Amino acid sequence: MIILEHSSTCPKCKKHLDAVSAVDGHDRVPVENDITLCSNCSTVLIYEKDLSLSEMSDEVLETLDPELKGQINTAKDFLKRFRPNENSNLPN
Ligand SMILES: [Zn+2]
Repeated sequence: MIILEHSSTCPKCKKHLDAVSAVDGHDRVPVENDITLCSNCSTVLIYEKDLSLSEMSDEVLETLDPELKGQINTAKDFLKRFRPNENSNLPN
């Protein structure tokens, strides 16, 4: 995971997003059209030219490569399991 100098805000839940992790393990600063997930609400997001984030529409999501869609779904499942409010009953 890397901390970003330029943080962004999730357009759906308004969470301040200031760090990213790449699915391939080669962390780098995101660029335009990179896909990411909100760590708070798991919404699929895309980086704009100014590195602000937009929500990816279901129509665009359906056009993605099946392997990429699989990676996105795996990451969404991972995030849902580790949301703080869903771990409140787990031992510390
Ligand atoms: Zn969000």
